[in-house]
Amino acid sequence: MTFELPALPYAYDALDPYMSAETLEFHHDKHHQAYVDNGNKILSDLPNMGETLEEVVLNAHKQQNQGLFNNAAQHWNHNHFWHWMAPNGGGDKLPGALENKITEDIGDFATFRGKFIEAGLTQFGSGWCWLAMDNATGKLEIMKTANGDNPLTHGKTALLGCDVWEHSYYIDYRNARPKYMEAFVDNMINWEYVAQLFEQGPMKAAA
Ligand code: ZN
Repeated sequence: MTFELPALPYAYDALDPYMSAETLEFHHDKHHQAYVDNGNKILSDLPNMGETLEEVVLNAHKQQNQGLFNNAAQHWNHNHFWHWMAPNGGGDKLPGALENKITEDIGDFATFRGKFIEAGLTQFGSGWCWLAMDNATGKLEIMKTANGDNPLTHGKTALLGCDVWEHSYYIDYRNARPKYMEAFVDNMINWEYVAQLFEQGPMKAAA
């Protein structure tokens, strides 16, 4: 298979002032493009790594091909990240079934918000924080991963992820990761997309 850079689902300035057009131009056109290009370079010598991106991520992880894993996982992460944000997003207007499940497994919205932001702030260095569903139990949880790693390799399905690499916030927030995390939760989350992934249930990604 070959990786392809997807188009952003909105205009570059659609998330302004919470995430600027300049950030999205660099993040999507340069950083995500580089994961696509570097992943394809490695894949061109490895024809049997999988039929789907999820299979490539899991096979690269299993075979400890760190170069392919980093690029394939970051391609997967960013494909979803663009959809995890939307203009006029964020806040506590969650679709009902999702809100009930978060309340049951994690706590009320304020508790969720605090724990999600905390996970992003305590991820030392580059990485991601997540709202994920355990594939075995269906339970929701907050987690964090380093670098390109994601819930897929932990037997979990990602419902929401926030990129806490500096390339995601340095232009707009400098070193203030807390301000970026707050803007992400309060003003950018695309809850409709999170609910869509929640309704699909545990991801069946054959390794
Ligand atoms: Zn990124």
